[in-house]
Amino acid sequence: QQQIQLVSRPEGMPEESDFLYKEVDVPHPSQGEVLIKTLYLSVDPYMRGRMSDAKSYVEPFALNEALSGGVVGEVMESKSEQFKQGDFVVGMLPWQEYSLAGEKEVRSIAPDAAPLSTHLSVLGLTGLTAYFGLLDIGQPKAGETVVVSGAAGAVGSVVGQIAKIKGARVVGIAGSEEKVNYLKETLGFDEAINYKETDDIYSTLKEACPDGVDVYFENVGGEIGDAAISLLNKHGRVPVCGAISSYNKTDRDLGPRVQSKLIKSSALMKGFVVNDYSDRFKEGATELGQWLSEGKLQYEETITEGFDNVTDAFLGLFQGKNLGKQLVKVAEP
Ligand code: NDP
Repeated sequence: QQQIQLVSRPEGMPEESDFLYKEVDVPHPSQGEVLIKTLYLSVDPYMRGRMSDAKSYVEPFALNEALSGGVVGEVMESKSEQFKQGDFVVGMLPWQEYSLAGEKEVRSIAPDAAPLSTHLSVLGLTGLTAYFGLLDIGQPKAGETVVVSGAAGAVGSVVGQIAKIKGARVVGIAGSEEKVNYLKETLGFDEAINYKETDDIYSTLKEACPDGVDVYFENVGGEIGDAAISLLNKHGRVPVCGAISSYNKTDRDLGPRVQSKLIKSSALMKGFVVNDYSDRFKEGATELGQWLSEGKLQYEETITEGFDNVTDAFLGLFQGKNLGKQLVKVAEP
């Protein structure tokens, strides 16, 4: 079986040569462990941060060891009372075709309630990030204007739809015409902007938000973030979820110079990580599942086939190749 290791810390944009696909043995479970076959693997922008050795909220990935992340898998062999062969599980596991996990490292998922892949997308950490960031920090009210960047991505597409459920007017910012059309036509966003085709994001966004911005859900940072924050209304709220435009920067990222705007509008800007809400995950997943079954929430997944293409799928996140959640399908159940 194959494993993917980080062999050098990227400077700027990661490259294929920072990774090594290595042949390793399939491990054998000890008492209390299970052997898991990877079915779906999640690639996420935050992993870029862990590839550097800077201190952050999660430990950096070790060099010459397997990378890891969200995996949906099937139990192939169990030496645990809690799992049996054929069970489906989700957890944070190494980037390998087969892995060992202890009982506390994975949890069972029902294969018939929703497609297995959704436990890494809309019903997984991605959906929960959108849910808690928007509802707990953003607190959108009916009639308010909610702007979301990275809008056609995994988190952003769920944020916009939840804001619509709450009765807000939703404006999405994304990086292609196809994405803009998807947001307006499939997801029912009120407006969508292709930031790659605007000369001046501030004036385009201002035009799209005639009543100003009440909530700006930040996924990208940079000039887009500056523009949205500059348009905040009195008591505006800014959940700061991500800043992907800066993840591969080698120079110091300056700005945003938003202090005066925050003061003048008595606004709230608050960073968060989804794990801040870990004791409420059940509540979030239940409501997301409810909206999904009622047809109020739609989701998109870009599924790349094959373990050989994991790093390619990861690198594609920084080029906007994905619509919705980027996953890799590694094997059939
Ligand atoms: P996405 O599915 O949104 O994929 C990344 C998208 O970002 C790309 O498709 C691309 O879309 C856009 N992008 C890439 N480079 C740039 C750039 N330079 N400027 C603007 N947009 C860019 O990923 P996720 O939904 O998983 O994550 C979205 C954000 O949320 C990330 O910043 C991530 O780090 C963060 N996050 C934070 C969590 C937390 O707990 N705080 C948890 C999960 C995610 P486009 O074509 O529109 O450019």
